[in-house]
Amino acid sequence: MSQPEAIISMKGVGKRFGKFEALKDIDLEIARGEVVVLLGPSGSGKSTLIRCINLLEEYDAGDVHVDGIRVEKGKKLQSVRQEVAMVFQAFNLFPNHTILDNVALGPVRVRKLSWKDARERARRLLDRVGIAEQAEKYPSQLSGGQQQRVGIARALAMEPRILLFDEPTSALDPEMVGEVLDVIKGLAGDGVTLVLVTHEMGFARQVADRIVFMEAGRIKEIAPPDDFFTATRNERARAFLDAVL
Ligand code: ADP
Ligand code: MG
Repeated sequence: MSQPEAIISMKGVGKRFGKFEALKDIDLEIARGEVVVLLGPSGSGKSTLIRCINLLEEYDAGDVHVDGIRVEKGKKLQSVRQEVAMVFQAFNLFPNHTILDNVALGPVRVRKLSWKDARERARRLLDRVGIAEQAEKYPSQLSGGQQQRVGIARALAMEPRILLFDEPTSALDPEMVGEVLDVIKGLAGDGVTLVLVTHEMGFARQVADRIVFMEAGRIKEIAPPDDFFTATRNERARAFLDAVL
């Protein structure tokens, strides 16, 4: 069993694509309400790791537990997925629904809320991410930054305990990155557990409780951000930081 305070527990997790080992012996415990940022070079396994948390990717060794439930195919997967929401790099909004209904749709379908209640909740969430006035528009009428804020509101509408972000600002024009990062910052410390992959180093340092550095499918270092950014003794992490900072 995982430690009671860990909301996410990964033990000895491995994942292969054919002969290629994308994840090797991953041990990671994430506490409730914690903000964890995954860093590492492209191809190091960051996306694969977070996709194992909600079984978008099936791991083939070890164990992943979310809130004490083993993440695996079967009847409990639905309850795991209700606790874990994911925000992608591409916003994946429904083009033929309004912004409001993009946010309301999940709760109507999955939580069986009435449209009236779901839209009420959606309005509050759009307000929280600063785009309440866009509610009646369609996704194509919004900027990329606004669309990603809708993506975050849509994830929050499911009232998840865990939010996974995979490079949420990578598809955005530079001037729109800040507004999305500000929304994510606003979520940190709110009790929801955040696991993020990002290349925004300043943001990572500011918002993370811990940095997890990956390379070639392995976790090479886990450290508080100040230690990681100023004093990592890991050679690969040092080289990575020298390249990106
Ligand atoms: P990162 O997110 O750190 O860039 P990924 O987790 O996406 O890395 O990928 C890790 C490695 O696994 C990469 O070498 C990638 O090519 C490989 N990989 C990821 N998904 C697949 C897949 N569906 N099929 C085959 N190889 C994959
Ligand atoms: Mg990735």
